[in-house]
Amino acid sequence: MIQTDSHVITKLEEHKFYKLIIGAALKDYKTIEEYAYLFSHAGADAIDISAFPHSVVSAKQGIAQALTQDSKLKEPLIMVSVNIGQDPHFRRIELNESNCTECLACIPTCPSGAFKGTEKGEEKDNSHLPSSSVPSPRFSYNENLCFGCSLCLPSCHFDALKFTNWSAFETKSLIELQELGARAIEIHLNNDLDAFSEFYKSIPEFELESFCIGSGQMDPAQLVKAAETIIQEVKNKHGSSKACIIQIDGQAMSGATGQNTDIISIEAARSIMHLQSDTVFIQLAGGITDKSFNKAFEAGVKVNGVAIGSFARKKISTIKDVDKKIEWAKTLVKNPGTLSFDN
Ligand code: SF4
Ligand code: SF4
Repeated sequence: MIQTDSHVITKLEEHKFYKLIIGAALKDYKTIEEYAYLFSHAGADAIDISAFPHSVVSAKQGIAQALTQDSKLKEPLIMVSVNIGQDPHFRRIELNESNCTECLACIPTCPSGAFKGTEKGEEKDNSHLPSSSVPSPRFSYNENLCFGCSLCLPSCHFDALKFTNWSAFETKSLIELQELGARAIEIHLNNDLDAFSEFYKSIPEFELESFCIGSGQMDPAQLVKAAETIIQEVKNKHGSSKACIIQIDGQAMSGATGQNTDIISIEAARSIMHLQSDTVFIQLAGGITDKSFNKAFEAGVKVNGVAIGSFARKKISTIKDVDKKIEWAKTLVKNPGTLSFDN
């Protein structure tokens, strides 16, 4: 059995584990490197990325850059996210160009900056160019920046934006990802427990294994059953001392809206808290903000960690200065550590 880094276990035991989700679908390598850099400086314990070789390389570069600048930093675990069946985290927007009127309404809705265009009334004058070489003056979409949050969908009244689902990995490639530097894995279950059990037996062991259940697809009884299955499978494969995280996903990728979106995750976590133990750690995800740790504890749901994605990315994208981005990320990551928990 591969032991989990003792620092990570301590953070989980102290209810201070912090994971940054960059995006299971996100394939923009510059963004992955930038966020890995910022949140390594901030002290994140794990950086959750898409399961592509180049994603791991980019995260590693960002982490290495931060560690070079500050030798006191603890290296965060690179976690790759994989899915069993269809999952909201593994989808991307597809643009139907023939329906798009270039109205630009979707641009401000995207926390990832996937849409670009000139402001209304500032349309460029391309009349001097031959018509065959005139580029679209108003609008473009970069699918590699999309992480599937769905915030843009209501803004489009022309049926130009639709989701496509995809599967992010092949089992055999997980070994390659490990060789490149992935030390942790997250498996999104989707309530297909038989498929999960079969899949889990087939994959290599990771130093830290996290299992994501929820996303509005399971009622409390199903959550308990899924969590019990996970715990049993981990025990069967690695023995009873292998640590695992059960991540309870609430309203996936909704934290950027800032609308009390964490309540679903907190209430779902409540239903499995009796399974928390020295080796089974519970973590919140899906709609998580800087307030969620406090809220969970005030509600009596004493989770071990939080995973924050779109909330952090949206805020960071509005800050221009790199040092200020790092400062904000540090405040966010340190938030759990500033609390006094009565266990
Ligand atoms: S708003 Fe969300 S779903 Fe739409 S393009 Fe941006 S990241 Fe993708
Ligand atoms: S809102 Fe729809 S029609 Fe308007 S620019 Fe975006 S994709 Fe095109």
